[in-house]
Parts: sequence; C-alpha cells; structure tokens
Amino acid sequence: MQTSICFFNTLTRKKEAFSPLEPGNVKMYTCGPTVYDYAHIGNFRAFLFEDLLKRWLLYRGFKVTHVMNLTDVDDRTIKGSQKQQVPLKQFTDFYAKAFFEDIKVLNIQSADIYPRATAHIPEMVALIKTLMAKGYAYQGEDGSIYYAISKFPDYGKLSKIKIAKLKPGARVSQDEYAKEEAQDFALWKAWVPEDGDVYWETELGKGRPGWHIECSAMSMKYLGETFDIHCGGVDNIFPHHENEIAQSEAATGKRFVDYWMHNEHLLVEGKKMAKRFGNFFTVRDLLAKGYDPIAIRYLLLSTHYRQQFNFTFEGLESAKGAVERLRNFVRRLHEVDGGKDSEGKVATLTAKLEACFGGSMDMDLDIGTALASLFDFVREINNLLDTNMVSKQEAADVGGLMMRLDEVLGVIGRVEVEEALPADIDSLVQKREAARKAKNWEEADAIRAQLKQMGIVLEDTSQGVRWHKEKA
Ligand SMILES: [Zn+2]
Repeated sequence: MQTSICFFNTLTRKKEAFSPLEPGNVKMYTCGPTVYDYAHIGNFRAFLFEDLLKRWLLYRGFKVTHVMNLTDVDDRTIKGSQKQQVPLKQFTDFYAKAFFEDIKVLNIQSADIYPRATAHIPEMVALIKTLMAKGYAYQGEDGSIYYAISKFPDYGKLSKIKIAKLKPGARVSQDEYAKEEAQDFALWKAWVPEDGDVYWETELGKGRPGWHIECSAMSMKYLGETFDIHCGGVDNIFPHHENEIAQSEAATGKRFVDYWMHNEHLLVEGKKMAKRFGNFFTVRDLLAKGYDPIAIRYLLLSTHYRQQFNFTFEGLESAKGAVERLRNFVRRLHEVDGGKDSEGKVATLTAKLEACFGGSMDMDLDIGTALASLFDFVREINNLLDTNMVSKQEAADVGGLMMRLDEVLGVIGRVEVEEALPADIDSLVQKREAARKAKNWEEADAIRAQLKQMGIVLEDTSQGVRWHKEKA
C-alpha cells in the first residue's frame, strides 16, 4: 500500500499526508448535480477532478467507496418543474437521466451509490430532530426550522468566514445566499403556497428540507459519521460545506470529514461562464459542435484542479491532438514486429515514467507534471521506434504501462489496429467518402454495396469511416 500521497486540505489550507481512517479503504462523498438543467462544463470540471482523484486512489491500491448525491428537491428544482408545469419527479428524472448519459460519454467512473434527496426525507427529519434536541436548531415564526450558528463555536472553520458581525435574528431561508454572510439557515422549510404540491407531512410539520441538510444526512447514512474525503467546487465551501460541518458535527459530536478537497472555477475564454455572455456550454453543446467527448475529458483534466481553468476552443483542439498522439503511439506499439532490443533503454525510460508520473500524482494530483513526463516518454520511445530499436517484448511492456496509466487518465481506450487497405479498395472507400460529402447518397450506397461484395464492411463513426473484413 502506497502511503506517500499528499492532498491539499481546505480545512487546514495545507498539504497533508493522506491516510484513511480504515487502512486501504477510502470513503468519499462528492456533491452531485442539482437535477434542474443539463450540467455545464464547469460542473463537469468538478466531476472530472473527482474522477481523477478516485482513479488515482484505485491505481494506488485503495478500495474506494464513492457516494454522489442527486439534489432532486431544492429551490431550483421546484421552480424549474413549475415553469415546465410537470411534476417534480418527472422533471428531475429527465435531468438525472441526462446527467448519467453525460458522465458515460466523458468516461467518468460511476459512484457506488447515487442517493436522491427525496428518498431520504426520514433521515433528514431525524437529523434535524437531533439538532433541535441538542439546542442547535429552533423554529422561526415562519414555521421553518433554522440552525443557530452562534451555538456552534466552530462555525466558519472551513470557509474562515467571520461570524462576529452576525445581526441578531438574521437568517436565510434560500438555499443559495444572496450575501456571503454567515446567517442562521433553514434546515426544514415550512410549506408556502409557492412550493405547490412539493411537501412532506412530517413531525417537523408540512414542508421540505433545506439543501444543506440533504448532504449531511445522505453522506453520514452511507459513509458513517466520520469519513475520509469530501469534495466539491470552491463555490461549495461557503455556505454549503460550512453548513454541512455545522449540522453534522453538532449532531454527532464527532469530526465530520478528514480531508476537504475543492476544485477551482472554470472560465470560458477568460470570462465567467454565463448564459448572458453567450459562453455557457453543456457537454451536449460541445458534442453538437462535433467535438470528441474524450478531448473534452482530457482538456478538463489536464489543468491542476486547484488552478483556475480557462476553457477555450483552441485548448479543446490541442486536447484533441494530445489524445490522438497517445492513441497513435499505442497503435504504433502494436505494430512493432521484430525490432532490435534497446539494450535496457526502454526499461530505464519505463521505470523513470512510472516514478515521475506516480510521484507527481501523489503530490496533490499534480497532473501537469505527470502529463509532461508522459509526453517526454512518448517522444523518447518514438525516437527509439524510428531507428527500429524496440523489440516486440519491449513494445508489449510499454503498451502494458500505457494501459495501466490509462486506468487513471481514461482517454486512450481500446485502440484498434487496422491493416492497410489494398489500393483498389482504398480508392473505393475514398470515392465513397467524397460522394457522402457531396451528399450523393445514391452513389455512396452503391459503392458500399460494391465493397460488401468484396468482403469489406464499412462503419461510419464519429472518428470517420472504419472498415473490417466480413467473416467468411
Ligand atoms: Zn452537497
């Protein structure tokens, strides 16, 4: 078991050696999507950082239990469903399905559990009752139940927000604060006519949970009262995660989370992403423009998670080039046949890459340095391949390492090796491509049929046309 991993902990603002509570087993919770719209690339930057983190822990031999919630009842989902005039469940199911489709195309590994807030109301009610019994929560004159932050001396320890200026009686009932100011916040929101048919009749009265209590209840249910890692974007630090700590630690009297990890914001072409700036993109928007989802994945992964990331279309193009370089390299390794032995050079380079890549990733997921060492390696092995100085066995060893590292990166995938097409067939394939481009479907179909008679089957893929020989 590798124990030299360090992570930057938002709680202490320091890099700390990572060791899970239970040796070898990591329990992590990541705030999931609010299913009221398609998730945008800023959201996916967070989900891809978390994917990289999890894949790195797995690569280092840890077992990881990963829980990601779906926020399917909050201010935004209620508003959205009313606007579309559909029941809340129908509305959130639609966007939850879209979310799962998006993470699949981005090759994000699934969490072990995706708890939905609406399926955990009793757990939330129990947690709020505990907070009331312990004196941390009170009922406001509006019937809602609020958390009294003045009762929790540690309030502000994650975000470092000051509560000195707290005005008596200042409280906030919205999930998202209008002001970045510490205030008593709603745990349970008494029903108001604007909530329509979204309410639960509980011991706390008719109403619905606040957003923050959802994550406390669901994380502790599946991971225990204290667990290892909690992630989210920096905009979650306050108030969401600060409030989660206040709720959870007041209720249990125990430390809630050991390592808090947050990714920085994403900018688009140097600006904050917003619909009104016309620079707001979902993954679907980019796919519709013809971009490869794996290039999007690579781009969003390749900047260190704690750096602000500037998304540009130029960057997306170069990400596409980087992914192609890696795939071509692996393809080239497959094609090595009967080269000379490198006399230990390949083994030396391989060991160096493993050490550099591993050492960088262990240091708070320093992906930039890890990728630089990977591309240095690719260049040096390519130089050896150019002079036919790599044996078949060495090529297989390098290919094996590339596949192991791709367990972490998830961008190479299965590379298919095609034999060169005989010239007459190749010219037919090209003729058909030209016909397709000219939208001359009749001719394109005729050529396809002709090729089929010759035993060649064509597949049109997003990466262009592929072919295989029909099995006899
Ligand atoms: Zn959350």
